[in-house]
Amino acid sequence: MHQRDSSVEVLTQAIVRYAVDRVRMEPPLDGPRTEAELTAMAGITISELGLGGLEALRVFADVLAPACISTDHPRFLSFVPAAPTEASILFDLVVGASSIYGGSWMEGAGAVFAENQALRYIADLAGMPTEAGGVFLSGGTAGNLSALIAARHQWRARAGGRFDRTRGLVLSSKGAHSSIALACRAMDADEISVDSDAEGRLHVENLRDAVAALAPEDRERVFAIVATCGTTNAGVIDDLDAAASVAAELGVWFHVDGAYGGAGLAAPSVRPRYRGIERADSFIVDPHKWLFAPFDCCALLYRNPLAARAAHTQHAEYLDVLHDDSWNPSDFAHHLSRRARGLPFWFSLATYGTAAYRDAVEATLTVAHEGARLIDTSQHLELIMQPELSVVLFRRVGWTPQHYQTWSDHLLADGVAFVVPTAWAGETVLRLCIVNPRTTLDDIRLIIDSLN
Ligand SMILES: *Cc1c(COP(=O)(O)O)cnc(C)c1O
Repeated sequence: MHQRDSSVEVLTQAIVRYAVDRVRMEPPLDGPRTEAELTAMAGITISELGLGGLEALRVFADVLAPACISTDHPRFLSFVPAAPTEASILFDLVVGASSIYGGSWMEGAGAVFAENQALRYIADLAGMPTEAGGVFLSGGTAGNLSALIAARHQWRARAGGRFDRTRGLVLSSKGAHSSIALACRAMDADEISVDSDAEGRLHVENLRDAVAALAPEDRERVFAIVATCGTTNAGVIDDLDAAASVAAELGVWFHVDGAYGGAGLAAPSVRPRYRGIERADSFIVDPHKWLFAPFDCCALLYRNPLAARAAHTQHAEYLDVLHDDSWNPSDFAHHLSRRARGLPFWFSLATYGTAAYRDAVEATLTVAHEGARLIDTSQHLELIMQPELSVVLFRRVGWTPQHYQTWSDHLLADGVAFVVPTAWAGETVLRLCIVNPRTTLDDIRLIIDSLN
């Protein structure tokens, strides 16, 4: 390749310097630009002879990066923010440099070994048995789909061919993440989404009623019950133990989606709320959400990994050399080639130790709960519910949806904070999601004051 403007060494220094500076700085909030603006500022970047690395890096630093909101900014409190540790980010560079194929033990044994230890940390938090295991994949959406594919496979395998052409049926609740519905669409399965309680938790009586109302032939189609520990919009935890019991009575797979909230397992102050998670057949948590790993990283764990392997292993002439008894991460989800994307998370855990994780999750919970108290005592604000985890839902008294949107736009444009409105029971309201240990009570106060 061309090295038009610099030696490899100069480019190396520039890239590493840029990355290290970005890790250490207080990140700018930044914000989106239109395609026309970006075209005007960046121009055509792909040319026959290339821009050279230093110029391409300049375009990124001056034009492209500022057009991306920094999800690790301490006042990025929309959706689910990110807060990767310094060790995890630096190690992400190493993973990229190491050209590791993370799909098979044969090719990536060392990486897979380390990833499995990180998965074991999560399995232990959840109280899953020693045989439990799984894989890191791109995100919760891919994790939920892969878990449900395994669930359906088991349902069909147990029926000995009777259901091979029958549409499966998943029972979930209104609080479940949109990716459950997406997985069902992708699998051409039906979903019954039972009404949740007033705070958005799976309502177990409604679930039982929904089961009781099924015709016998539909009851046979049920292959999974999905519960959520940490709904995305409100951060509430379903009654996992009761949902597990319904699944056990039906003899079907129990999947728990903890993409956001699963991290709370690390915090003793909220751990009791997850009772029943140890009964899950599969469980996901996104370390890129609240476990301080960079994008993109979801941990998927199975109680019985062999059931998942039966569903997901790909067979081909050129692949079968891999299929001895070794542990191949490709076999546990809907993918084949994979980045060893659990390694930055592993490195960070290995570096700081699990106590630092416990403390960091507790710190975000504290800010969320103290922030909620501040909101509760503000004349102009009303708390919608006490936060169970680290999502705070509240309203600004007297505001219309347009007020909220204008306020939110200004806050971002002024580089103050990124907080978008959400909806609760049909009403436009505000939502703060706190997963960044660098978010302080003063940050929350600043936002509260801006709502005056
Ligand atoms: C974020 C989220 C997902 C989707 O995860 P991605 O990593 O964005 O694909 C699924 N379920 C829940 C509960 C979530 O919060």
